[in-house]
Amino acid sequence: MTLLQVRDLQTHFATRSGALKAVDGVSFDIAAGEIVGLVGESGSGKSVTGFSILGLIDPPGRIIGGSVKLEGRELVGLPNAELRGVRGRQISMVFQDPSATLNPVLTIGRQMQLALEAHEKTSEAAMRARAVEVLERVGIPDAARRLDAHPHQFSGGMRQRVAIAIALLNSPALIICDEPTTALDVSIQAQILTEMKALARDLGTAMIWISHDLATVSSVASRLLVMYAGRIIEEGPVRDVLRAPRHPYTAGLIASLPAHAVPGRDLVQIPGSTPSLFDLPPGCAFQPRCTYAQAGCGVMPNLLREENRAVRCHFPLNGSGS
Ligand code: SF4
Repeated sequence: MTLLQVRDLQTHFATRSGALKAVDGVSFDIAAGEIVGLVGESGSGKSVTGFSILGLIDPPGRIIGGSVKLEGRELVGLPNAELRGVRGRQISMVFQDPSATLNPVLTIGRQMQLALEAHEKTSEAAMRARAVEVLERVGIPDAARRLDAHPHQFSGGMRQRVAIAIALLNSPALIICDEPTTALDVSIQAQILTEMKALARDLGTAMIWISHDLATVSSVASRLLVMYAGRIIEEGPVRDVLRAPRHPYTAGLIASLPAHAVPGRDLVQIPGSTPSLFDLPPGCAFQPRCTYAQAGCGVMPNLLREENRAVRCHFPLNGSGS
């Protein structure tokens, strides 16, 4: 069952140099309970896509077109008061920095109570019980006692667990995770990844896992969306994309994974650098960095769908051209 349907989403930022097209015609679906990885370099539009779904775009940014439907209900253009009802209850977000969620001057218990009260009034005892249940679920030891602690009394990893607990409080259908483990130690990252995956599976919660790190995304998601210069350029099941990428950019990302490093040799890197969104080449945005570029690449390729895969390239790898 389709939970989220995004169609031709366009989020632009007004700047002195003109409109910056951070998200430029993005379309995808998320099924109930599905974990989808949204991967791309910094500036590819992946985080802006996540914020746009939640209606968290402030001026000079604006959603200028497209549709975001949650269980058939259109979210684009919804008044703020109604969007607040969706946030936290049906869709919640976990940020890279837990301080984006946590208020330093309130106890964890008070913050969890406020998050619950925003959507449903119940007794204080019931809210406390729910807070303890969710904190235990994310691996906070001695949860009942820790409700009275402030955020600074937790380690970085534990603070992120608390932020995840707050995101889970109202049992949302979808959690958008924006680089939630990037700032943590590698061992804590791995733990949280494994636990989030198990949580999503057990609770039937869908997740969009946003990251620049293909290895991280691939370890948690079952389907990949690869973004480049504000557009989706490849989509497919994680295993299929990793085994046989169709877009040269995705192939470059995979080749540059540390797991593919040859001892004694430098890591393979995609040539060139992320393009400025103000200065994209005509046609395919990846053209200046693409070793497969040909004359026809000066025309913008469409995202071509074939069974459960999609690719935006005139001359895709491992298959026929467009
Ligand atoms: Fe490379 Fe051309 Fe494909 Fe773009 S359309 S990725 S330039 S081969």
